[in-house]
Amino acid sequence: MYIVQIASECAPVIKAGGLGDVVYGLSSELETQGNSVEIILPMYDCMRYDHIWGIHDAYKDLWVPWYGGKIHCSVYCGWVHGRLCFFIEPHSGDNFFHRGCYYGCDDDNMRFAFFSKAAIEFLLQSNKRPDVIHCHDWQTGLIPVMLYEIYKYHGMDRQRVCFTIHNFKHQGMGGGDILQATNLNRAEYYLQYNKLRDNFNPFAVNFMKGGIVYSNAVTTVSPHHAWEAHYSDVGCGLSHTLDLYQDKFSGILNGIDYDFWNPQSDRYIPQPFNKETLEDKIKSKKALRDRLLLQNVDKPIIAYIGRLDNQKGVHLVHHAIYYALDKQAQFVLLGSATESGISAHFRHEKNFLNDNPDCHLELGFNEELSHLIYAGADMIIVPSNYEPCGLTQMIGFKYGTVPIVRGVGGLVNTVFDKDYDTSLPPEKRNGYVFYDTDFHAIEFAMDRAIGLWYYSLEEFRQLAIQGMEYDYSWNHPGAEYLKIYELIKA
Ligand code: ADP
Repeated sequence: MYIVQIASECAPVIKAGGLGDVVYGLSSELETQGNSVEIILPMYDCMRYDHIWGIHDAYKDLWVPWYGGKIHCSVYCGWVHGRLCFFIEPHSGDNFFHRGCYYGCDDDNMRFAFFSKAAIEFLLQSNKRPDVIHCHDWQTGLIPVMLYEIYKYHGMDRQRVCFTIHNFKHQGMGGGDILQATNLNRAEYYLQYNKLRDNFNPFAVNFMKGGIVYSNAVTTVSPHHAWEAHYSDVGCGLSHTLDLYQDKFSGILNGIDYDFWNPQSDRYIPQPFNKETLEDKIKSKKALRDRLLLQNVDKPIIAYIGRLDNQKGVHLVHHAIYYALDKQAQFVLLGSATESGISAHFRHEKNFLNDNPDCHLELGFNEELSHLIYAGADMIIVPSNYEPCGLTQMIGFKYGTVPIVRGVGGLVNTVFDKDYDTSLPPEKRNGYVFYDTDFHAIEFAMDRAIGLWYYSLEEFRQLAIQGMEYDYSWNHPGAEYLKIYELIKA
């Protein structure tokens, strides 16, 4: 099958979070399973060019209709760790992708509406006719709309779309100007409830809703999150739309790319290990302590790796730092905040804890350091308010790092409480789960984890090994996506 992925991220060249990992990992797996895959991305000024091999002009003169005129774009092509990627660079005064950031601009809706228009125009003009176009998140939600309403009349009538929602919180909104810019026009048509009209704002176009309404299949990134989005407020206003389209909506658990996340072959850790040689994890623990100037003492290390925002339960992350220190554990945090209030808060904490030999807060995005933390920590906390899938607990498993998580979204599908999950035999359990958002709940889970580490390191090691035995590779989810592609293919 010929599949084109269109997204705003692809790790490691463009990565702000899990979306990047998923686009890369899924594409690799689909190729391994015998398909031809290409990836279309924006050409950001700040992406990691050092991860692109053999970059060259693929299409010099792409003219993209935009408002009443056309914007000239160049399309470059190169390999990102073996994946064939196309990067679209517009030449216009808007400088859509020359902003020194991936997201967070006031005109993000226009930037990604343009990217969507350019991506589909590129497919048209370069005569690419994939069987399936796989679009990811709100940034690409207008692609199935344009395909169905415009491009199918220009020879793209056999292309089918799978739309995957990685985070319902960010839906992409705009006014009538979005419709004019993309040449969809006809506001009276698109601003109907059964088209693109936001479910709560009658004057707004909702990109994600467009993706749901117009795609042939819609997925989100775990079965439990699919349920939550459909039946609870986690759908952020789109529950009714999901209900209307429930026959084409499902949840497929994300995988992890074990070529990239593998303590057996990880070039960022000092000594490889696997479940047979788990004792060698101690070398990563030592290297992590040396690098972050933590004291080398007989204590467990608890880690947090992730964006610092309300979704991730930052009030619990903050509490966990002090609780861990109080309970004779060390704490390492690697996180970046986009919201200024949260950013200032953690900068303050960092200064306050600067001289503490048991704690290090690293603020910013650092791929290399994240590998060493996964390998060197004993436990990883994921206290999210909501979590569509969550990759950090799955990466943690692979590195023998025991997760302590809140039971929401994909965390429910992946982490099974050592003491209380009676649905599984004890030898299949792999971590600690709590449910409430108050301090008591996370404290109880942390007490149990830290307690086991001090009480019986051997039992704790066994729990880590049970986590390592789970297969969260892309193998199974890749096959699930292929089943969907087969189902919708023309
Ligand atoms: P998100 O909601 O951000 O997509 P996920 O758990 O799905 O969360 O994926 C997070 C991914 O981003 C993981 O690969 C994690 O290691 C990585 N990550 C998050 N924050 C950082 C950071 N500050 N530095 C390095 N990697 C990070």
